[in-house]
Amino acid sequence: MSLDAYLEPGSQPQVDLDADLQAKLDTLVQRLQQARQDYGEGLTFANSLGAEDALLTGVLASHQPEIEHFVLDTGRLPEETLTLLDQVRRRWPQLTLKVYYPQSQELQAFVEKEGVNAFYLSQELRKACCGVRKLEPLKRALQGKTAWITGLRREQSVTRDQLEYSQWDEGNGLQKLSPLYDWSEGEVWQAIRGLKLPYNRLHDQGYPSIGCAPCTRAVAAGDDPRSGRWWWENPETRECGLHQR
Ligand code: SF4
Repeated sequence: MSLDAYLEPGSQPQVDLDADLQAKLDTLVQRLQQARQDYGEGLTFANSLGAEDALLTGVLASHQPEIEHFVLDTGRLPEETLTLLDQVRRRWPQLTLKVYYPQSQELQAFVEKEGVNAFYLSQELRKACCGVRKLEPLKRALQGKTAWITGLRREQSVTRDQLEYSQWDEGNGLQKLSPLYDWSEGEVWQAIRGLKLPYNRLHDQGYPSIGCAPCTRAVAAGDDPRSGRWWWENPETRECGLHQR
């Protein structure tokens, strides 16, 4: 696979990819091509606009642009995430990128009853907010689909250490594919930089994992990458429900 496939006309890769990383990229392309063959129009990519998804976006745009992407805009995303969303749209107009928003009436009722920052008050309210802003839109995004692609990696947290490439997603009733499950964070970044892919600028400010603005903060170098998400909760509960263990 030539690097040229990823680059804008006239640009050059910043670094050479070593042979091991090139082999991993080739395997990633094969996984995505096989997934498209296996699931066809039933396949969709949950693009959260984080580092792993920046890599998947670039690879899909170059090799499988017909695979649909969807983004969940919770209404509380950081500005940097929305900026990246626009960059992706402009750079790869060939992609089908759907954005799902919370149902306005449901969201209004929740905010009126519990307050706009209720997630800080209890885990129950935090999960309720994720339910309105993320889980309900996710259900709509996955409706009629038979498989979804995610950017999950095993290394990311204790809640993801049992991850496999392909697993039945009982909660959502379809297959979940995590083609980066065996990638390290270093490999992801080497590929992003080598392929000159656009990424969320919050990663340069100490945010290894990025979600909604009020529920994400920077972490110290070497800390658990997920420790900046819902930092006021126990590490075992730091998932929003999109990905059940
Ligand atoms: S991450 Fe925070 S703001 Fe976003 S949906 Fe969940 S609780 Fe609400």
